Amino acid sequence: MRHRPVLLIALALFAALVPVISGIPEYWITLANYIGLYSIVAIGLVLLTGVGGLISFGQAAFVGIGAFTTGYLTTRHGFSPWLTLPIGMLLTAASACVIGAVTLRLSGPYLPLSTIAWGISLYFLFGNLDWLGRHDGLTGIPSLDFFGWTLVSGRRYYYLIWLAVFLAIVATQNLLDSRPGRAIRALRGAVMAESCGVAIARYKMLIFVYAAILAGISGWLYAHMQRAVNPSPFDLQAGIEYLFMVVIGGAGHVWGAVLGAGLLTVVKDKLQDVLPRLFGSNGNFEIIVFGVLMVLILQHAREGIWPRLLRRWPSRRRTDRTLSAVELSRRERPPAGQSILEVKAVRKEFGGLVAVNDIDFTMRAGEILGLIGPNGAGKSTLFDVISGVTAPSGGVVSFRGARIDRRAAKDIAYLGIGRTFQHVRLLPGMSVLENVALGGHQRARQGAIAAMLRLDRKQEAQLFSEAARQLERVGLAAHGHEPAGNLALGQQRQIEIARALCADPVLLLLDEPAAGLRYREKRALADVLRGLKQEGMSILLVEHDMDFVMGLVDRLVVMDFGSKLAEGLPRDVQKNSAVLEAYLGSVA
Ligand code: ADP
Ligand code: MG
Repeated sequence: MRHRPVLLIALALFAALVPVISGIPEYWITLANYIGLYSIVAIGLVLLTGVGGLISFGQAAFVGIGAFTTGYLTTRHGFSPWLTLPIGMLLTAASACVIGAVTLRLSGPYLPLSTIAWGISLYFLFGNLDWLGRHDGLTGIPSLDFFGWTLVSGRRYYYLIWLAVFLAIVATQNLLDSRPGRAIRALRGAVMAESCGVAIARYKMLIFVYAAILAGISGWLYAHMQRAVNPSPFDLQAGIEYLFMVVIGGAGHVWGAVLGAGLLTVVKDKLQDVLPRLFGSNGNFEIIVFGVLMVLILQHAREGIWPRLLRRWPSRRRTDRTLSAVELSRRERPPAGQSILEVKAVRKEFGGLVAVNDIDFTMRAGEILGLIGPNGAGKSTLFDVISGVTAPSGGVVSFRGARIDRRAAKDIAYLGIGRTFQHVRLLPGMSVLENVALGGHQRARQGAIAAMLRLDRKQEAQLFSEAARQLERVGLAAHGHEPAGNLALGQQRQIEIARALCADPVLLLLDEPAAGLRYREKRALADVLRGLKQEGMSILLVEHDMDFVMGLVDRLVVMDFGSKLAEGLPRDVQKNSAVLEAYLGSVA
């Protein structure tokens, strides 16, 4: 169980010794250098594609920007390579910002298609600019000089490349294990992430730029290793190969990138020897083999090879997060009885279907309001409208006096509305605690750079203390370190409540929180909700279990076919004949 660190140290030692072992041919060193260069690009793709879900075929173009920037500035203007590194990084970042601003909004297959488009465009740009030497490229790029130690030989260069790989791995893993990292991991569940206050567009841009910068660094290293650049290594095929590396190695794992880069480079090298002899002519036959390999991997090990290996080497999850004594600051709560939520003539139509039909009601601070009605009555849709997940077709929603019906979900979360979902939306592979901590996203400030440098630990401790407190409140403290997907559905609903509470909301929207719970668990949940009410929380509750609802809520709003049927105290509503007919009748 504890072999993994030992294994890694052994691997690192071996890697460090490779160039000084005299028997190892230069050829293998060169191969190792290429693997390192590809790994750096692939690590960026892990974040972008594997974790963030944004597929890019165009990374090779960013490598090209890094390579041509240093090639041009060092050969034509005599810049020091150590100066062209930051310039190249800035230039790739700037290009990524421009390209990202135009394309990252695209959804579905359009985003990957656009990466093909700009990937090809940049490639042709490199090949057609006179000052970049057109198709011949640039030659005479100086070698790197490290305090008088010239990195001319492949053996020396090896150390620089693998130092860069190592730093990229550490920075990326640190980033993933942080507040921005959790937001990035949540990008695939956009609706949930927004409701947790994550600015989706910003994090997409962040990973796009981050991956581009890594590609640019790889390009800079490449240019000074080759001492010449031409456009051909930055074409679409290279972009596709980077993606292959990540998918084959394991798109969701940083080490999968290194494994994939290694496998593909070695296999490609062998195939380039063997296949032309087999086919009797020259050509890039290896691409065919990679294509077949990719299909096989996608069919039999969709996660890639690295996670398969991991299963043989289970690691001990770190369980000892230091907890912080300093609590995160809390929102001030409105005085009990003050009007907190006003819903006026709110309407939501889906094509011809009126899911929410001119609903009116008002909620007061410190109140538990039950929203009931048969399936399809429009309760969840109304939740979506209030929380900004979907825009209403008409009407006004005001929260603490301010209109929120045109605002984005993340802004509404920021104002203090937390919610759960009828169909649980958790990140199943992430630990329960991390899922809950995601809810506290907006209560912390640390960004990506602090995270990469591990300067965010104090605030992380605060976030995790808060997450642990909320998890304990819903009775799941013992499960904090398990993957959220391992828990029963009823428990997953409780995690969602803890996640919503972690944002320190003023108003809590709970969509069927008791579904899937056993009798005792329901009673415990009712106690939790009563406790929250005592602390001044306002709760809007959708629930089907009438015993649960009647014993808990202050008032009820009943909906049927999108319209409001009744509103009032539970005992009055229970006697309302229209309600009995429409709602209770249909349940029985
Ligand atoms: P409830 O939560 O009260 O069971 P919903 O709000 O989920 O009801 O659904 C209300 C009605 O709106 C249903 O008829 C449902 O089929 C429809 N509906 C909900 N979401 C959509 C959607 N995205 N597109 C089309 N129809 C929808
Ligand atoms: Mg519903």
